[in-house]
Amino acid sequence: MFNSENVLIQVDNLQKNFKNIKVLNGITTQIKKGEVLVILGPSGCGKSTFLRCLNLLEEPTVGSIFFNGDEITDINTDINKHRQKMMMVFQHFNLFPHLTILENLIAGPVKLLKKSKEEAKAKGIELLKRVGLEDKAMAYPNQLSGGQKQRVAICRALAMEPEVILFDEPTSALDPEMVGEVLEVMKSLANEGMTMICVTHEMGFARMIANRIIFLYEGVVAEEGTPEEVFDRPKNENLKAFLSKTL
Ligand code: ADP
Ligand code: MG
Repeated sequence: MFNSENVLIQVDNLQKNFKNIKVLNGITTQIKKGEVLVILGPSGCGKSTFLRCLNLLEEPTVGSIFFNGDEITDINTDINKHRQKMMMVFQHFNLFPHLTILENLIAGPVKLLKKSKEEAKAKGIELLKRVGLEDKAMAYPNQLSGGQKQRVAICRALAMEPEVILFDEPTSALDPEMVGEVLEVMKSLANEGMTMICVTHEMGFARMIANRIIFLYEGVVAEEGTPEEVFDRPKNENLKAFLSKTL
């Protein structure tokens, strides 16, 4: 079942029900190292649930997920060890409001990676420099714009030295003029070979950045392909309807 060194995440027949609502209805896919996978689909189709199942923030009802060859859906697997390699970036940033920007960046590495404070700080400042926010190290989240907060949230994910970053509509809560600065950071990560799974409604960005696109509809992968296949030659009727509303 798990047969390639290049595969980072293998998902087999993933199903998720909430009470008697079937949200995910049998998803099988794999994510290779260095791949940028974009997930599209209408609101409520299960995109967030899918991401949250990958790191077991939600418990799958049926199916298995392998990360680096280990079955994380096996109850005997130490999920915490794996979860810190799969960082999530949320629509609403989820920074710790009572911590400074730099403290936000060092909390995880100190607590979970057992780094020294000095080392974590040095790395945190390096990351802030990278996104042009080193002058905000001592500020608090509420002193930053949405775009700045999201860039910090990406730095916080990177500070954990993850193997994959899961982005759940990272620009949906931003004012339009701030979308670009966040997408730029994501683009640079992709170019450096970071494995990324992105739920986004930014179609131009998806076309530019994705190696592969999955269209989720009614709990299944209704269509899957390269950006050219999905955007220029869609086959599924629901995908066509979705694209005609969003492009
Ligand atoms: P998307 O991210 O594509 O908009 P979600 O994954 O957030 O969709 O939600 C998919 C469906 O699952 C929705 O109908 C939503 O109401 C439902 N859902 C999501 N989380 C829960 C939950 N914790 N309990 C019950 N229903 C949920
Ligand atoms: Mg969602």
